[in-house]
Amino acid sequence: MRLRTLHPDAHCELDHRSPFELLVATVLSAQTTDVLVNKVTPHLFASYPDARALAGADPGEVSALLRRLGMGMFNQKAKNIVGLSRDLVERHGGEVPRTLDELVRLPGVGRKTANVVLGVAFGAPEGVVVDTHVQRLSQRLGWTRSDKPEQIERDLGALFPRRDWDMLSHTLVFHGRRICFAKKPACGGCGINDVCPSAFRAENVGRKPPRAPRRRAAPT
Ligand code: SF4
Repeated sequence: MRLRTLHPDAHCELDHRSPFELLVATVLSAQTTDVLVNKVTPHLFASYPDARALAGADPGEVSALLRRLGMGMFNQKAKNIVGLSRDLVERHGGEVPRTLDELVRLPGVGRKTANVVLGVAFGAPEGVVVDTHVQRLSQRLGWTRSDKPEQIERDLGALFPRRDWDMLSHTLVFHGRRICFAKKPACGGCGINDVCPSAFRAENVGRKPPRAPRRRAAPT
């Protein structure tokens, strides 16, 4: 509740006007930022406004559009969003399904993406969305001892009632993006530093381990 008070405007930061747009935006957001996705999607949806239009698209043209707009993994992402649109048309009448089981059968849609759509578009998440911010903050706040997203989701699900799951994720993401940074968390200016078990020593809590340096090829 204290965090919620600090971020009363917490919400999903992917721009969208429909469940379809949210689903596509969330798939595109893998390994990139919401800011870049929000730059790409207006162009994408101007050309392909719904599942039927995107289902009929040439994946090569969609890929070229994503690439031109600076999106990484553009080939795979184009394939996924065209593929999921075809599935939506063929199996769901062009509409986004409302269950986790159906959503995770769509190309490029995992549990996290499915729960973003269920929570934000339909207000009925079947689990807590655990992204990198939720993972790090849950560890820093002492809500989990795990660094595995599946276990963290179970721990948060046991601690919080289902009605709070959607807003819990948005609130943690807001706090993680604005105050509790992975590197150099701003504990001095944090409104919950009197109750946070990691306050002023959080730098190494919940950080991803550094990537192993690439080995240089031996000279021939
Ligand atoms: S006190 Fe520090 S570690 Fe704890 S939530 Fe605030 S910024 Fe994060």
